[in-house]
Amino acid sequence: MKRIGILTSGGDAPGMNAAIRAVTRRALDKGLEVFGINYGYAGLVAGDIFPLTASDVSDRIQRGGTFLYSARYPEFAKEEGQLKGIEQLKKFGIDALVVIGGDGSYHGALRLTEHGYNAVGLPGTIDNDIPYTDFTIGFDTAVSTVIESIDKIRDTATSHERTFVIEVMGRGAGDIALWAGVAGGAEEIVVPERDFDIGEIADRIKRGREKGKKHMLVVLAEGVMHADEFMDKLNKYGDFQARATVLGHVQRGGSPTARDRVLASKMGAYAVDLLEDGKGGVAIGMEDNKLTYHNMLDLFDGKHKPDLDLYDLNKSLSR
Ligand code: ADP
Repeated sequence: MKRIGILTSGGDAPGMNAAIRAVTRRALDKGLEVFGINYGYAGLVAGDIFPLTASDVSDRIQRGGTFLYSARYPEFAKEEGQLKGIEQLKKFGIDALVVIGGDGSYHGALRLTEHGYNAVGLPGTIDNDIPYTDFTIGFDTAVSTVIESIDKIRDTATSHERTFVIEVMGRGAGDIALWAGVAGGAEEIVVPERDFDIGEIADRIKRGREKGKKHMLVVLAEGVMHADEFMDKLNKYGDFQARATVLGHVQRGGSPTARDRVLASKMGAYAVDLLEDGKGGVAIGMEDNKLTYHNMLDLFDGKHKPDLDLYDLNKSLSR
């Protein structure tokens, strides 16, 4: 193996740049050449590929987003698209790839591996919804961003004695809601992984009011329902002066936290080590603070498990 390609695909996440930097520098350190591929699989097929030097990745570690850009490119799910991508790999003399993204991006990486081009996946998504890793690159930053907003919303909630339903991202996973809920001192956390009863939530809010609580913050994972819908249902149980806030895409941006930068740096360097070892079709994880890798096929069968202890913890802390 002489030449590694690197691309970011699917939704962007803070820390992707730190991962690209780590892959590039580790590979150069080992005497390999590195090529950046813009716009994920779309750029691969289009041949939007260029050499990366050590200085190309300088001043990137602290930046959010991905300087290689990202794109959705459904055509890559078809063999025709994959073969076009492989033509480009041949043309540029790239033997192996690092793919930073989520589940969909891993499918593309596995197809390339099956065609003889080893690809290693790094979990880059704010949602933390990938199996076999405790944390994904970008999650910690997203949670920090959510906390900043919750702290601000709390000020106005307290001043007006209002209930706020704050919808956070996470796709089908409740991780952002769980972490941000506990860290933000929310009264209620609502996630897809746990059943809930809006009538009971309304009762708890009423009891909290009676005890003199000035604000009520409900952190709602987007995978459950929209904040407006939740608020309408809640308001059927009484006048909660409820307001719905959807935090939206601010959660995807911003300078990565130290944790995300370190995670991305460790994983990026490890990806190069695995490729050098002849591995492909595997995805990297951080489990119990140790770097691990798993076959992508096992990953597709596996189920991500959020830390539901946080849910129970919050119940006892938010009384
Ligand atoms: P994520 O990687 O965050 O899950 P997507 O599901 O949008 O995001 O996937 C990112 C890209 O990966 C897609 O736009 C497509 O180019 C590629 N991809 C998704 N599914 C497949 C598949 N089944 N086979 C090959 N490539 C795929």
